[in-house]
Amino acid sequence: MKKLVVATHNPNKIREIGEILPGWEIVAEDSGAEETADTFVGNARIKAQSIAPRHPGAWVMADDSGLEVAALGGEPGVRSARYAGRDGDSAANNALLLKNLDGVTDRRARFTCALVLIDPAGNEHVVTGHCPGRIRLETSGKGGFGYDPLFEPEGHTRTFAELAPAEKNAISHRGRALAQLRGLLER
Ligand code: IMP
Repeated sequence: MKKLVVATHNPNKIREIGEILPGWEIVAEDSGAEETADTFVGNARIKAQSIAPRHPGAWVMADDSGLEVAALGGEPGVRSARYAGRDGDSAANNALLLKNLDGVTDRRARFTCALVLIDPAGNEHVVTGHCPGRIRLETSGKGGFGYDPLFEPEGHTRTFAELAPAEKNAISHRGRALAQLRGLLER
């Protein structure tokens, strides 16, 4: 089985990447690096490059992702994980998002996923995937993670948290970003 080292401490990202890339052993490694860039690609690059020296000759990848809400000028964006203060507190993040959109009728939003993949020869490959949709008035569904219970992808009547994993992965920002790397990974 081919091994892909992913710079993250988020078990949900590891699970989804594993679902999208069957046949790969996905190994999580916390980069510990501070995400100081103001773009998704910039932060993915920081994370990938911080762990790559520890894995010469391996496939190494980082995922930086988040939710951009039109009426909030693209917020929470790169701050999605710590929007309400504590890193990864999804309940608080969702509550703050609903509060900030109180009375706002323009609910358009999109998820973005930037992936930086470093191949065994040390070459860097950068791709970005998007998933457009809208923010619901209240949470719905128990699947997925993060903002999934509030996000209804375009063309659907259910939230990401109400879709089966395979349904989410087929249209998600992460699924779309990984699809662009599939040819490279399968070579
Ligand atoms: P990162 O670990 O800095 O890339 O932060 C990613 C954050 O964006 C997560 O903690 C979630 O809040 C949010 N996010 C990214 N992808 C998803 C997704 O597929 N569903 C729901 N929330 C997501």
